[in-house]
Order: sequence, then C-alpha cells, then structure tokens
Amino acid sequence: MKIQTVEMSALKTKLPATLTCLCLIISTSLVNQAKATSNANRIDNSTNNINNKTNNINPIYQKAKTQLPPDFYALYRIVDRLSRANEYDGRPWQIVRSAKYDTQAFAKNANLIPIYNGVLEQLGGDASALACMISHEMAHHKQRHQVITNIEKAGIITQIREEAIAQVLNRKRKTSPVAIIGDFVVRRVIGGTIGTVVNGVLDNRNNRRFRKQQKRVNAIVEKKTVELEKNILKQSREDEFEADKIAYLASVKAGFDKQGCLRAMSVLNITKGVKFDENHPTIKERIAALKVVMEKSKNESLIAEGKDNLFQTQPLTYNLSANQTSLRVNSRHGASIGDDIDRMFGS
Ligand SMILES: [Zn+2]
Repeated sequence: MKIQTVEMSALKTKLPATLTCLCLIISTSLVNQAKATSNANRIDNSTNNINNKTNNINPIYQKAKTQLPPDFYALYRIVDRLSRANEYDGRPWQIVRSAKYDTQAFAKNANLIPIYNGVLEQLGGDASALACMISHEMAHHKQRHQVITNIEKAGIITQIREEAIAQVLNRKRKTSPVAIIGDFVVRRVIGGTIGTVVNGVLDNRNNRRFRKQQKRVNAIVEKKTVELEKNILKQSREDEFEADKIAYLASVKAGFDKQGCLRAMSVLNITKGVKFDENHPTIKERIAALKVVMEKSKNESLIAEGKDNLFQTQPLTYNLSANQTSLRVNSRHGASIGDDIDRMFGS
C-alpha cells in the first residue's frame, strides 16, 4: 500500500604586523641575519607556492576557466571536488541556475542541483558556503529523498478512501454493493473532495443506511489523511536535517572550510526570495542540529580520506548548455559510453 511507504517511509591568525623592539642597540649583523633568514623563508615559501600551483595546474581546469562563465566555473570546480572526494562521481550532475528559490527543485530531475541566483549573489565569493549548499542538494539525491507533491498526495488520499470503502463494505456484507459502487463511479469521474460530493450523492439517494456508511468512510479517510499529513511533515523535516548533516561531512571531506555550512545558513537567512514551506525546519533549528554534527564529526580522518580519493581520480569533464543556463558535470566515465571506451582502450 502506498500509504505505508510514506509512513515507513581559517582562521589564519595574523601575527601582529608590528613588533615593538625595546632594544636601542641592535647589532647590524643580527639585523642582516634576520633579514637573510626572512628572505630565505620567503623564497622557500614562494617556491612551495609555485610548486603547489604547478602541481595543481590541470589542463581541464585551465580550459574550464577560459570556457565557462565565472559562476559556472566555480560551480564546476565545487561539484568536481565534492564528487571525487566523496565518490559521487559514478553519476553525472546537472547544475541549473534558477531565478526562483524552490526547496523541492532537486526532486524534479535525477541529479539536478538547482542554484538560486539570489543566493549566489549573496555569497560574496564564499566557495565553502556555496560548496555546502551544493552538497546539500547532492545529499537529497544520494539519499533518494522523495518529495510528495500535491498530486501524489491526492492519489494517496484516493487510495485511502478506496480502502476505507472496502473496509466498511466488508463489515456490512449485507449492504448492496451497488450503492457503494455508485459512489465510487461518481467520485472517480468528479474527483470530489472528502465528504462533499459523496454526501451530495447520499442526500439524493436519501438512504439512511448508505449515509451511515459514508459517515464511517469519511471518518476513516479524515483520520488517515491527518496521519498522512503528519508523516509527510515528519519525513520532510528528517530529510532536511539528514541532507544538512551529509552536506557538512561531504564538504569537509572535500577539503572545504568547516564553518562553510554555518555561513551558508546565514546567507539563506538574509537572501530575499528564500522561503521555506511549512514542512521545512527553520534556519535556527537547522543551525542547532548542524552544530551537534560539527562537534561529533571526526574531521581529520574525513579530510585524509577525501584527499586520497581526489589524488586517485582525474578532474571530471563537463558540458555547458548552449544557452549557458545549465552545466553538466560528467561522471568519471566521461560524457558518453563512447568516451568511456576511448578512455579505457584508446581512441
Ligand atoms: Zn533540502
């Protein structure tokens, strides 16, 4: 029964730039020695930086930076990193910029990551906060979270009603099934709301026993519909907290700043157009739950695992849509099966 499915269902502390020296006499040699050491450090650091950068230069990223609009370049890099660090790269991801904030947008397509323009504008260059938001959407997909649409809800209520009718009918076997079947047909055609159409049919029939049965059907439907609403609300809230938790862990694993998720929450709080439906927990509740996760998480081992996964994989390829509104980040197999064959056996 479908109803049962629903039920079960950097801080880089800068040292003070000014060091006050109380010594009036400082030997020139000491000063020179200090200068030499500091210059040597600087050279070492810059060499390291150059080395790091050299190591990081990847032709795919270089090409991406020149090919993609700046926002999409950032989105691509984040999705690529999250995917590979967390082994989400077995599937492609579709990033879509959206003019409207929609908490349920992820559910419209498999692997869709909707990014609200308003939020992007408010992020102020904060890659870690954006990574957390993307990671949240990915988590909904990974966990196969379901959004019950109003149409689906209506379908479930229809089922509830059918079962309630069967239940009442079974108990009163002596009642003519014609009366019930009659209601059934009328309700199917009209698709009436609970009670009204059915009662209208009853009044016309002016049949006391039938009316009594319908009252019982309506009572069962009403009780089960309240239960359904409660379950949808509970499930939706649980899904949201779960997506937040996984988003935090996945973004830390991919090497993003641990505070990024908290900053993402505050951005959501101040962004115009961001509205949560009644099934969504509040930002305050989400921050409180996130802080508990942050305290418990073993970040060091996560980061090490993520680094290892990144080291063992290659940057993912991508395809930008012709109208530049969506970007597909391909899976580790490439854009197509043909690409995967080329990768494995050469072209
Ligand atoms: Zn969500």
